[in-house]
Amino acid sequence: MKTKLLSLVLMAILIASCKSTQQKPSEMNKNNLTKKDLAHLEQCVVLAEIALEAGDQPFGSILVDDENKIIADARNRVNEKTVLAHPEIKLAQWAAENLTAEERKNTTMYTSGEHCPMCAAAHGWVGIGKLVYLSSAEQLGGWLTVEVKGPASGVLLKKIKGLHQDYYQQKN
Ligand SMILES: [Zn+2]
Repeated sequence: MKTKLLSLVLMAILIASCKSTQQKPSEMNKNNLTKKDLAHLEQCVVLAEIALEAGDQPFGSILVDDENKIIADARNRVNEKTVLAHPEIKLAQWAAENLTAEERKNTTMYTSGEHCPMCAAAHGWVGIGKLVYLSSAEQLGGWLTVEVKGPASGVLLKKIKGLHQDYYQQKN
């Protein structure tokens, strides 16, 4: 049930974010981002840099109204607060508290990284109109991938197996 709801929310966000902004082709880059979009994303990077300097993961987001004015911003504060202190959920909360449903529908959230499922759900529940992100979750996953090797075999494996067996026999 929760998975189905989350899927619906994500689909709604995807549809909302895919709506054309009626920009001329010459004003868009290959991912349909306009110069204004890129300028807002640059502001997200500045916030991500501030987060990193403060010891947090480098994520930053802004909320922009229908006149393209920045009305709120946030950066990652996971180290300072809790693991839930993502900038996107903070902006969704701010929008819920400070904007009408109609105003929220006309806002765009710009963010340095694609929403995680928690923030995507908050975005959907609050009814923010559009989402523009700089890097995808897939890219982030690729950038943070750590090489994993194992299991080993041979003498070392026999040795650790023996240690575990010794421990188990001591306990019984
Ligand atoms: Zn998040």
